Amino acid sequence: MALTITDECISCGACEPECPNQAISQGDAHYNIDPEKCTECAGAGDEPKCMAACPTDGSIIKDPNHVETPDQLLAKYNKLHAN
Ligand code: SF4
Repeated sequence: MALTITDECISCGACEPECPNQAISQGDAHYNIDPEKCTECAGAGDEPKCMAACPTDGSIIKDPNHVETPDQLLAKYNKLHAN
């Protein structure tokens, strides 16, 4: 399951450089996560690095519209980093 950023985001930008997949970008209202690139940090660590970096409580949540298994997330990571 990819993660997503809610309206609670204060646009501090702390998460963006932490993402191993360059899935985070600044949007008009707040930062956004590209579900095609987010692996919940599968392949790069034990916990979502963006969540750990975020100073707010609840800005970054699991995206119920992008449900994936751990194996699917790892396969996505390996595909993103194949070259
Ligand atoms: Fe990037 Fe990991 Fe956050 Fe997904 S959980 S957006 S891969 S830092």
